[in-house]
Amino acid sequence: MKKRTKIIATVGPSSDSVETLYEMIRAGVNLFRMNFSHGTHQEHDRILANIREAIARSGLVVGILQDICGPKIRIGKLDNIFHLQSGDHIEFVKEEIIGTQVGEGHYRLSLNQPEILDKLELGNAIYLYDGVIQAIITEVGDHIIATVKNSGQLSSKKGVNFPNTPLGIEIITPKDHEDMRWGVENGVDFMAISFVQNADDMKKARTIIDSFGGKQQLIAKIEKFDAVENIDEILDASDGLMVARGDLGIEVPYYEVPAIQKRLIQKGMERGKPVITATQMLLSMTEKETATRAEISDVANAVLDGTDAVMLSEESAVGHHPVLAIQTMQNTIIATEKIYPFYLFDRFVNCNTTDIVEESMVRLAKHLDAKAIFAVTTSGTSVKKLSRYRPNKPIYAVTHSDTTARSLTLVWGVVPAFCFTPISPDASRGELLFDIIKSGIERNFIDLDSTYILTAGDPVGQSGLTNTIRILRRYEMEYFLNLFKQEK
Ligand code: PGA
Ligand code: MN
Repeated sequence: MKKRTKIIATVGPSSDSVETLYEMIRAGVNLFRMNFSHGTHQEHDRILANIREAIARSGLVVGILQDICGPKIRIGKLDNIFHLQSGDHIEFVKEEIIGTQVGEGHYRLSLNQPEILDKLELGNAIYLYDGVIQAIITEVGDHIIATVKNSGQLSSKKGVNFPNTPLGIEIITPKDHEDMRWGVENGVDFMAISFVQNADDMKKARTIIDSFGGKQQLIAKIEKFDAVENIDEILDASDGLMVARGDLGIEVPYYEVPAIQKRLIQKGMERGKPVITATQMLLSMTEKETATRAEISDVANAVLDGTDAVMLSEESAVGHHPVLAIQTMQNTIIATEKIYPFYLFDRFVNCNTTDIVEESMVRLAKHLDAKAIFAVTTSGTSVKKLSRYRPNKPIYAVTHSDTTARSLTLVWGVVPAFCFTPISPDASRGELLFDIIKSGIERNFIDLDSTYILTAGDPVGQSGLTNTIRILRRYEMEYFLNLFKQEK
């Protein structure tokens, strides 16, 4: 049986040829991530064309996730490397300067977003160089001065974090705005929004996508301390989450990241919204041919936490072994799913009719030992709800919409392989079943000696109206096959 947990691979210089992308799909990639922290639109045009060609060659449904870079806060250029010692002073100025040493243990530099300086209060922490250098604000007013707590070297343009200052900044920059326009125009399936602080940030992103006429699935990257605090409202305003452990591990104490990961995955599952676990999963494979035991365990444990997808970043973007990294993830997922805690019954609260139908359906599939589940869906929402019960059966999403099919590439256990004739209220139920069964047999998804379970809404084509469960055995399948035999 194939794996249920999905794999996302970031595309970069190591992997952007059609040949490598194709090999990565064959090795198990379900979605490609295009990282808009790097590259021009012209470069992205070329990479996207290659991705689409590789997908077409594979004949599979593969999603495309555009990662919007957001307001990564950085220091400006420095005239030299600063050799900082504990007790040294860093002075932050609002105008743009080339950072320089101005006295014994006294350095002066600027930020790419000087408006942040107005938000800082005495005693707030400021982390430089991805948390390598930690400092505390010891003077505010005309001069903002931070006192360094540990020694370290600082060079130009390094990242800055404020682990306990709610910045309340605009997280969609003018560049992001243009990148989102590119994403809508080029029909990406998912957009991931970086450094989200609260639900408002996600609503703003949605408004921008709407203004371009897009319908992309919106993923909130959880990588700020306030995002963790506001997780419920953010989830309500998002189609999914990414546990962005790289920046998150700087913003919150590193030892809290595993517990936060587990909590976010549970919360996503409760709402039927997919969660991605990201960053450093197989980091040593960037250079080496094998991962460490700890990295393999990290992938396995994310699977057992219930994540929908695991993600590769530099491993596949700039690493020496992009295909091998995918194979390593794929093998680890398949081996781990042998001990997967399937069938989460009686677990979710606030269930509506659709939820109860989905749970009943998974129970039936289990007790009748069905070979697979077919879910007829228009928007994909019902399938996401179905997935959260974690059936030990393939879930075939039956939809006429390419967009819906690709939006399900991220969802645990779902095979969005089927695109049948348009599901409209005019199509009769018999016609639809005929199509599913006939095409399922042709594609080897269905054999007449097994039992299948199908769920749908009647009338067909209406989103959020799952009200039908049908058992399909040889008798039923032959009946529907005969119904339209003469005409088709
Ligand atoms: P990034 O996001 O790779 O865009 O920084 C992921 C993370 O921070 O973990
Ligand atoms: Mn990040």
